[in-house]
Amino acid sequence: MHYKTIDFSSYSSFKMGPCIEVALLENPHENYEEYYLIGSCNNTLVGPKAPKLITLSKQFDYIKIEGNTLKIGGATPSGKVASFCKKNDIGGFEFLSHLPGKLGGLVYMNAGLKEYEIFNILLDITTPSGTKTKDEISYGYRQTDISEPILEATFTLNKGYRVEMTEMFKKMRANQPSTPSAGSCFKNPQGDYAGRLIEAVGLKGLIRGAMCFSQEHANFLVNNGGGVFEDAIWLIQEAQKRVFDEFGIWLECEIIILDERYMGSNSPLLSPKS
Ligand SMILES: Cc1cc2nc3c(=O)[nH]c(=O)nc-3n(C[C@H](O)[C@H](O)[C@H](O)COP(=O)(O)OP(=O)(O)OC[C@H]3O[C@@H](n4cnc5c(N)ncnc54)[C@H](O)[C@@H]3O)c2cc1C
Repeated sequence: MHYKTIDFSSYSSFKMGPCIEVALLENPHENYEEYYLIGSCNNTLVGPKAPKLITLSKQFDYIKIEGNTLKIGGATPSGKVASFCKKNDIGGFEFLSHLPGKLGGLVYMNAGLKEYEIFNILLDITTPSGTKTKDEISYGYRQTDISEPILEATFTLNKGYRVEMTEMFKKMRANQPSTPSAGSCFKNPQGDYAGRLIEAVGLKGLIRGAMCFSQEHANFLVNNGGGVFEDAIWLIQEAQKRVFDEFGIWLECEIIILDERYMGSNSPLLSPKS
C-alpha cells in the first residue's frame, strides 16, 4: 500500500490537526478495514490520537456521462462536479457549488443545503463489494448506513443548469462565518435548531483558546487561528452539557471526531449519561 503525508492543519477545513501518513486506497480489493476512511475533511475534527487513516487515490477522481446518467468517482471534489455540470448544462447539482467535500464524503453524510440533499439525485453507489441502489441504503438527515468505501456514485442526468439556484445557495451562506470550521457542529434536533439552543444557554461567542462558537452563527465552531483539538472538545462538551441541563435535549455531533479517545462506545460525546 502507498502512503502520503497529510498536514491536517492545512488540509482540513478546521485548519487543525497533526501531520501524519495516510494510506491510499488504490485497489478496491485492498484490505482497508483497519483504517478510517477520510475524504477532504470538511466534516471532521482530527485529533492528536487519530486512528490509522486511508483516503481514495486520484484514480477515483473522475466524472463520466454514460447514457442518461452521470458516474462520479468518490474522490471527486464537489467544486469540480459543480463546474462540470455548469459547463455541460446539467441540472440538480447546483447546491454542490456551495458545499465543500469529495463525492464519497458527500454521499456518506447525505450532505445538502436545506431540502436539497445528495440523495435526491442519487441512483446507486459502487463499493468494493458491488453496487447498491438507493433503495437498498437507509438514509436520513446527514446520515446513511453505508459501511464501505464509496468508490463511485451514479446520478440521474437532467438537462438544464439553473444559475439562479447558485445565487440562492450563495444567499443561504450569507449568515455563516468564513472563519475555518467544519460547517454545523451539531445536528439540528427534531423540530429545533442547534444554533438556537446554543444561543439560548448563552454560549454564542464563547471562546476557549482560539476556538469559539461563532458570533455569526452559534452552531459553527470556528478556529480563529492556531486552535487546538482539546479546546474544540471542551466547547463541544460544554454545549452538550448546558443544553441538556437546560432543555433535556442531547446535541448530537454532526462533525466527526477522529481521535481514539473520542471514538467508539466509550466516547464521552456519545450520550448524556457519560
Ligand atoms: C464551511 C462549511 C460549510 C458546510 N456546510 C454544510 C451544509 O450546509 N450541509 C452539509 O450537509 N454539510 C456541510 N458541511 C460539511 C461538509 O461539507 C460535508 O459533510 C461533506 O460531505 C464532507 O465531505 P468530505 O469529503 O470533506 O468528508 P470527510 O469530512 O473527509 O468525511 C466525512 C465522513 O464521510 C466518510 N467518507 C468520506 N469519504 C468517503 C467515501 N469515499 N466512502 C464512504 N465514506 C466516506 C468519512 O468516513 C467520514 O465519516 C460544511 C462544511 C464546511 C467546512
